[in-house]
Amino acid sequence: FPVSNHVVQMRSRLLQEKQQAWRGSPEGQKMMALRASLPAYKQRESLLESVANNQVLVVSGETGCGKTTQLPQYILETEIEAGRGGSCSIICTQPRRISAMSVAERVAAERGELLGESVGYKVRLEGTRGRDTRLLFCTTGILLRRLLVDPSLSGVTHVIVDEIHERGMNEDFLLIVLKDILPRRPDLRIILMSATLNAELFSNYFNSAPTCHIPGFTYPVKAHFLEDILDLTGHRLTELNQIDDYGDSKSWKMQKQLNNRKRKTSVNSLVENAMSGMSFEQCNFSTRSSLSRWDPEGLGFNLIQALLCHICRKERPGAVLVFMTGWEEIAALKDKLLSNPLLGDPNQVLILPCHGGMSSSEQKLIFNHPPPNVRKIVLATNMAETSITINDVVFVIDCGKAKETSYDALNNTPCLLPTWISKASARQRRGRAGRVQPGEAYHIYPKPVFDAFIDYQQPELHRVPLQSLCLQIKSLNLGSIEGFLSKAMQPPDSLSVKNAIHLLKIIGALDDNEELTHLGRHLSTLPVEPTIGKMLVMGSIFGCLEPVLTIAAGLSLRDPFVSPFDKRDMADRKRFDFGVSCCSDHIAYVNAYNAWRQAKVQGNAMDFCWENFLSSQTLEAMHSLRKQFRELIKEAGFLSSDIFVNEDQTSSEFLGGIICSGLFPRVAAILPPKNNVVHFKTVEDGEVLLNQNSVLAKMKSIPQPWLVFHEKVKTGIVILRDATGISDTMLLLFGGQLNRGSKQGHIIMANGLEFFMSSNLARLILELRTELDRLLQRK
Ligand code: ADP
Ligand code: MG
Repeated sequence: FPVSNHVVQMRSRLLQEKQQAWRGSPEGQKMMALRASLPAYKQRESLLESVANNQVLVVSGETGCGKTTQLPQYILETEIEAGRGGSCSIICTQPRRISAMSVAERVAAERGELLGESVGYKVRLEGTRGRDTRLLFCTTGILLRRLLVDPSLSGVTHVIVDEIHERGMNEDFLLIVLKDILPRRPDLRIILMSATLNAELFSNYFNSAPTCHIPGFTYPVKAHFLEDILDLTGHRLTELNQIDDYGDSKSWKMQKQLNNRKRKTSVNSLVENAMSGMSFEQCNFSTRSSLSRWDPEGLGFNLIQALLCHICRKERPGAVLVFMTGWEEIAALKDKLLSNPLLGDPNQVLILPCHGGMSSSEQKLIFNHPPPNVRKIVLATNMAETSITINDVVFVIDCGKAKETSYDALNNTPCLLPTWISKASARQRRGRAGRVQPGEAYHIYPKPVFDAFIDYQQPELHRVPLQSLCLQIKSLNLGSIEGFLSKAMQPPDSLSVKNAIHLLKIIGALDDNEELTHLGRHLSTLPVEPTIGKMLVMGSIFGCLEPVLTIAAGLSLRDPFVSPFDKRDMADRKRFDFGVSCCSDHIAYVNAYNAWRQAKVQGNAMDFCWENFLSSQTLEAMHSLRKQFRELIKEAGFLSSDIFVNEDQTSSEFLGGIICSGLFPRVAAILPPKNNVVHFKTVEDGEVLLNQNSVLAKMKSIPQPWLVFHEKVKTGIVILRDATGISDTMLLLFGGQLNRGSKQGHIIMANGLEFFMSSNLARLILELRTELDRLLQRK
């Protein structure tokens, strides 16, 4: 019920008095002095004036100048001083969960409060906010979900969209919606914040909204490219090659034998190419691929290690920030560094990972100053580029890549690959080294490669499949998908939009009129790809969620099986053993995961992984992702804890059907063996091959007529990855829509496949299928 004006005013006064008391205290004064030293403080009044006089304002400023922590706080302070402390509602969105949480915590601390008083946060499955919370930090996704129930954002006075230069899909999407709301809400204020200077693009989108730049101060940072880095580290690389006993890490030894010869040649050719000033495109193939390969066996890893050894032994004090591509790479490098004797006394280095998946207590360690004589090394993803400021960094190592989802609309294939960053990102990364004193930035790629980088990153809308986004447009009632997306700052390619709509129809999330089905509505509440979401929903409906959770986690991460170059056959054999009885790569993941869990209970997980060629890091990551998926399913109301299901008794035949429900229309026919080799064929590509490490590729004959697969890659011939064999019945019951054919016992599938069977069986299947579809359409 509405709170009376009197109460609102009283709360406002209380807030004001509390702040005054804090500012009078010694800690409060210290904090105020610290805040006043930030570049944003000098512009406080002019920023606030622009906010008051304009509906939309674009603010840019160097990372660390105080945009995120100060500007929302200035607005809050002004509102409180004006007596509106009880009624204002300021929302500041962040692209990542971890920044929403840590920024809220910081701002509350700066105000001498606990989280949940005037400042709070909300991210999916977690949050702290109270009755008096007036400034809320949340992920962009949370604000989009709020729009579902509150399309005009009634009661919200300010929306601050942070980190817009990243051009994330959610942020671009939110901007379209906000632009729509503006005429209806003349009192609403929108502030867009960016770390780079391309503010004009955003200003133009909002009818030439004013822009405001906060000049920052950073010390000069010297940029080194691969050319000089090899001079610095050349002998360290050789040293790395020469150590025989490198801790007792088995995997390291294996990898070292493998790389000894390869590394020398690639380093040599790199030097030659780099020195002759060739462009990246002109570099020879082996150089390009060794630079592009970004894994523990690749050159990039060794260069980083060599550089760290150099810094730890030869350079002045100061923290090191290493930009890497992802969680797994960070974990792998951390392991290697911990056993690298060249780094010096292990008690004098402090290695800290920094990525979106860690807890906030882990994150706090990053901000702490290490004890004297201890070198802090932070291994980070590109989230440390702009959204997190670590003050004591003096050295930056930039791998030149970031993991980005890219999408090939023509082949309709998404992939998560490390790709070269933009010039703007490389400069951001470099700038991180100059916060407290002049710094050094090591870019481990040749200068000509940098010159070939694009200026700014491509918007995510242009890089990823649009299924999830299209579902969201429909669930927010924003009209036709194509019409809505044409209003974006840089609208996506129409072929990508068509592909997305087509897929959503096939999985039953949209009906023929492009309206949301009940299944579609459920899928729109799950923050995973709709195909994975459908698999999870079907798994929970049919009581086999546990294995499906494992499969969904496996498909979202990298392959848990490792396959060392010289032991590939042995490794493939292990995978085969886990999956052959079920004809499935997916169920091989399930079996391997379950066996690993058991080994863990018995305390011999390491040996188990080693013997079975499994990556314990990937399995750990799967384990935590499974937990998140289970929470989401529970939150969506699909998990009823009191249903007892004996997961062990789920037949693999049936599990194949559930997998098919998510993967269809990615289906191929299994043809009878010719000369002892099984052949495969898809409707679109004709004859295709299976990836050689697939369980099915090694089977002499496959007792199933079909397979569904997760991914296909075109490299001359089409190669399918991650497959599961399924029967006619499972394909008919769980695949795309069915139509009755002209003859008796004739069924035609949505993708054109035809089936002939006895008319009784056909009738039964069609009836079962109708029931199943009805179940999914209904709530
Ligand atoms: P911007 O958003 O402009 O990049 P921020 O508002 O995030 O800048 O940060 C402003 C300053 O506050 C930075 O110098 C940073 O070091 C400091 N800061 C931010 N978060 C924390 C924290 N959790 N602990 C200590 N200092 C912090
Ligand atoms: Mg910021």
